[in-house]
Amino acid sequence: MSLTDDLYREIILEHFKNPRNHGRLTAADITAQGANPFCGDELELTLALQGDTVKEVRAECKGCSISQASTSMMTEVIQGKTLSTAEELAKKFKKMMLENGPMDLPPDMEDLESLEGVKKYPVRIKCAILAWNTLLEGIEAYRRGQGKASHVEGEEGAHPDLTQQLTHESVPGTKGTGNSAVGVPSVPGTQDTQEEVRAALKTVIDPELNLNVVDLGLIYGIEVQEGSVKVNHTLTSPGCPLGPVIKGQIQGALTRIPWVKEIQVNLTWIPPWDPHTMASEEVKSELGIW
Ligand code: ZN
Repeated sequence: MSLTDDLYREIILEHFKNPRNHGRLTAADITAQGANPFCGDELELTLALQGDTVKEVRAECKGCSISQASTSMMTEVIQGKTLSTAEELAKKFKKMMLENGPMDLPPDMEDLESLEGVKKYPVRIKCAILAWNTLLEGIEAYRRGQGKASHVEGEEGAHPDLTQQLTHESVPGTKGTGNSAVGVPSVPGTQDTQEEVRAALKTVIDPELNLNVVDLGLIYGIEVQEGSVKVNHTLTSPGCPLGPVIKGQIQGALTRIPWVKEIQVNLTWIPPWDPHTMASEEVKSELGIW
């Protein structure tokens, strides 16, 4: 993990923990609701205008850290801007999230560069652009003479092959032949096998937090018997759309252990994941727990 990644994660978590302009304006000129069903993110934006300028903005966002941080950053950026400038900046940010190439944003938008790492994960891009799409819908509706608008991520139908893309990306080097590779070594002693499985699972990264599932405490149990491995795991939140992706990554990681012949991956919600008690000390300090 580079220094920049660390710094970026810090910026995201800081906005997540202290969302700017949180709340709801009772006398709003523009009200726009947004939802990202891929992740369960929901938000409501309220804007008060003075002429064509955003005088005040409030946002109420429920969802993952990416959507909340991006919403918080967005409210800071558009405050005091004209609607056309806000629109322009929203389009610029969206374009940079959806296209390859480095982020190049004006100085007052530099916090948003922290979301660059999200570009690796198509599902998370939707989390990052939700607030901006909702803003654009709101401005458009206002121009049509309506004060209310709503936006649902995915209605543009951008990534039909999302899951496949992600699964593919997340299991690099997985051979189609799986466990039938030749020269399978004998099953190592049980005290080593658990460790070997744990080490393999450490290569599985939760895309939202960008940390491995073992240190996050998402692995609840590992059972090894001869060549068969059973893993019980959970996810950081029940609304997490990345369940199948993470399961695929776990399977992929186990497949790469030469002696593993049979894999069983079970998802459980009991007990619910709690980073305060389940994550490693190192992860807790990285998450700012707090
Ligand atoms: Zn999200």
